Amino acid sequence: MITVSEARSRLFDLISPVPAEDVPLIGAAGRVLARDVVARRDQPPFSASSMDGYALKAVEVEAHAMFRIVGESAAGHRFAGSVGPGQAVRIFTGAPMPEGADFVVMQENVERKGDVITLADAPGTKDNVRRAGVDFTSGATVDAPRVLRPEDIALLAAMNIASVPVARKPVVALISTGDELVMPGDDPGPDQIIASNTFGLKAMLDNLGAEARMLPIAQDTEASLRTAFALAEGADMVVTIGGASVGDHDLVGRVAGDLGLERSFYKILMQPGKPLMAGRLGGAAMVGLPGNPVSAMVCGYIFLAPMIRAMLGLGKAQPRLHQGVLAAAIGPNGPREHYLRARIDGGKVAAFDNQDSSLLSVLAQADALLVRPPDDPAREAGETVSYLPI
Ligand code: AMP
Ligand code: MG
Repeated sequence: MITVSEARSRLFDLISPVPAEDVPLIGAAGRVLARDVVARRDQPPFSASSMDGYALKAVEVEAHAMFRIVGESAAGHRFAGSVGPGQAVRIFTGAPMPEGADFVVMQENVERKGDVITLADAPGTKDNVRRAGVDFTSGATVDAPRVLRPEDIALLAAMNIASVPVARKPVVALISTGDELVMPGDDPGPDQIIASNTFGLKAMLDNLGAEARMLPIAQDTEASLRTAFALAEGADMVVTIGGASVGDHDLVGRVAGDLGLERSFYKILMQPGKPLMAGRLGGAAMVGLPGNPVSAMVCGYIFLAPMIRAMLGLGKAQPRLHQGVLAAAIGPNGPREHYLRARIDGGKVAAFDNQDSSLLSVLAQADALLVRPPDDPAREAGETVSYLPI
């Protein structure tokens, strides 16, 4: 059996970055920018007023100075003329500075009578001018790779970028296996349960920027599994759930092997998640997850998520663990790296008592996985531990 980090590095060897595609900016949020993007203009493209007020010459600004208003500059409508000595232009936020003016007196610091303004006792020293290009200039870049956040989208829009190169969404085929499984909304027979793993994993993978496709549930027969694998054709990654242990009905390894799986590993030193299986199947990475719902989801966080990030071009990074203080004592850990469902409560890490890997209700209450190294000794309340926020 190999360690969790060895398993992760072997999984990274099974994948490669997906190619880039152009998408309209309006649909680009959350996608991973694939190449640096270059601004196509300066922002602002002209020197602009940052206040509502009066544009005039800075050298003429002094208490009680008087100016004649010769025109107006509004956003989208510049003043065509130029400002001479003793003159001012009524100006509004975002409007181009008129030629000849280099200072805006805020309207609060002005008294106006007809076409004449008089500056207040203290007209201010700030010029209230945004210079052309102060935000960015043509040629400035938004660097790849990065997950495009709303802030990036706004910046790209201001740069006059209408479409962006992003990593194509890795396609993940999700195959639930088991005669006992039916889809949510179906009418389960007396011995049946609902397939929950595919739903949880699809949500997780889609959130990460993949396109997860849920295939029909495969029965515990070789023929049904072969059909499922055939339907997965073309995916970048094939993820099976269940059927990977050593039971009589655990056929995933055998069928995948018949179909040409180049196995990378089977079984890892992890709890939950021991019967993890992986390899290359045709052009795809194949990952066989354990069927227990919590095992499948934890393996999703620990293995599938880093794989998806790597495929998106974000690098082969380990999940970033946080440090926290134990809320209560925990016993010694066994020989496998252990991921315990936990809650971060008042800054402390509190593991749930019941860690059975079938309990989704406990997973749903958890907001962290407490990570315990193999053979970690018993820990007291107050000791520092590592956890992965989920
Ligand atoms: P297996 O690895 O196929 O032996 O499955 C282990 C346990 O996980 C069994 O109790 C299965 O019923 C359950 N299980 C397998 N696949 C799923 C699934 N997609 N959704 C929910 N439970 C599952
Ligand atoms: Mg099964």
